[in-house]
Amino acid sequence: MRLAMIGTGYVGLVSGVCFSDFGHDVVCVDKDAGKIAKLEAGEVPIFEPGLDDLMARNVASGRLSFTLDLKAAVAAADAVFIAVGTPTRRGDGHADLTYVYAAAEEIAAALDGYTVVVTKSTVPVGTNRKVEEIIRKARPDAEFDVASNPEFLREGAAIEDFMRPDRVVVGVETDRAAEVMAGIYRPLSLREAPIITTDLESAEMIKYAANAFLATKITFINEIAALCEKVGADVKQVSKGMGLDNRIGGKFLHAGPGYGGSCFPKDTKALARIGQEHAAPMQIVETVIAVNEERKRAMTDKIMDLLDGSVNKKRIAVLGVTFKPETDDMRDAPSLTIVPALVGNGAEVRVTDPEGLKEGEALLPGVTWCEDAYAAAEDADAVVILTEWNAFRALDLDRLGSAMRSRAMADLRNIYDRKSLEALGFKYVGVGR
Ligand code: NAD
Repeated sequence: MRLAMIGTGYVGLVSGVCFSDFGHDVVCVDKDAGKIAKLEAGEVPIFEPGLDDLMARNVASGRLSFTLDLKAAVAAADAVFIAVGTPTRRGDGHADLTYVYAAAEEIAAALDGYTVVVTKSTVPVGTNRKVEEIIRKARPDAEFDVASNPEFLREGAAIEDFMRPDRVVVGVETDRAAEVMAGIYRPLSLREAPIITTDLESAEMIKYAANAFLATKITFINEIAALCEKVGADVKQVSKGMGLDNRIGGKFLHAGPGYGGSCFPKDTKALARIGQEHAAPMQIVETVIAVNEERKRAMTDKIMDLLDGSVNKKRIAVLGVTFKPETDDMRDAPSLTIVPALVGNGAEVRVTDPEGLKEGEALLPGVTWCEDAYAAAEDADAVVILTEWNAFRALDLDRLGSAMRSRAMADLRNIYDRKSLEALGFKYVGVGR
């Protein structure tokens, strides 16, 4: 099949590359000329493990190409995927659909022959019908159907998630569109990935409900962690004991500094907003949003407590600033709340992150970027582990401590155990234990 992918960000690029690996002919379109130039030169503009090799292989096979020319890509396609950003709209928490609707207008002008216009971006219920309306109005003659195909991949494990998804969700209105979508995903059904076909509204809702549920699960264990600290329980043992119950499951049950990233913060806000608009308040989700904000703030207090109540004029090494390991994505990362709070309270902050510098430099003013954990820890009063990159999981703790002015660690991901740190003379604080 011939596919056009509009938007070559984390979702569009990974989807485009993987679809071409399935054997489809894929043209990836972006309006960012810099991105397209890089892609055409064989460079991947984002950090996503394994993407460079897979992309190179499929470009070499002739099935994958990149262009600024949306019109030509769409005209030749059996299906066009919209994978543009849907950030939070300023002011009201609603998803900003400007890019989706602009893409729909452009697609409308370019359609040639029967085409399925698929929205892969995360969009509020009703958006696919609006996309349909926009195209119908601009091109009453066009032969097309719309489909909703929300994406569930995780950054850092995006290729594996795309190739071996727990499920694929496809919302359609016609058998013809369902057939095209089934053809696109056939290679996955051979791998027994369930493909769930629904109406448009349910597909749109599944994505928000799933993300809000996961954000709730994280926030729940974070609140339990805060209580564990007060009552003398260990949240790691608690989550293990909870997670072995099949009805609960152990994933997304790790206490930490609060969720961040390009999806959970904006999708929870958007769902809360959809609820308000339809007089069906999402009270649990609204509480999750508030508790998560508070959680990030509480982490600064934890670090201050470790340093006897003040970080003023203290040197703090922060290990990891991306919202999770194996990505360079800084969108809504907890570091963007915690690091400025430390700087604002007078700390001298030295940060290190295997992939965070490119995005993080502009977002975290007033900090010093260091090559690795040991350089960051030089003369530091405390080390704070914010993101659990592998590089921080097996540190030579004695070497780290020797570089420091005083041995103290706030391990906000519970990577290390208190006893071994204390045996090395560290003052140690984790979360929920
Ligand atoms: P992104 O910001 O990384 O990429 C969006 C890309 O679209 C940009 O390169 C931009 O230049 C391009 N673009 C915008 N308008 C365009 C147009 N008219 N024509 C061509 N290109 C255009 O975004 P992302 O992280 O890939 O997210 C895309 C969507 O997927 C969002 O709705 C998001 O919620 C959803 N999603 C993201 C993830 C994730 O992990 N990032 C996971 C699942 C779903």
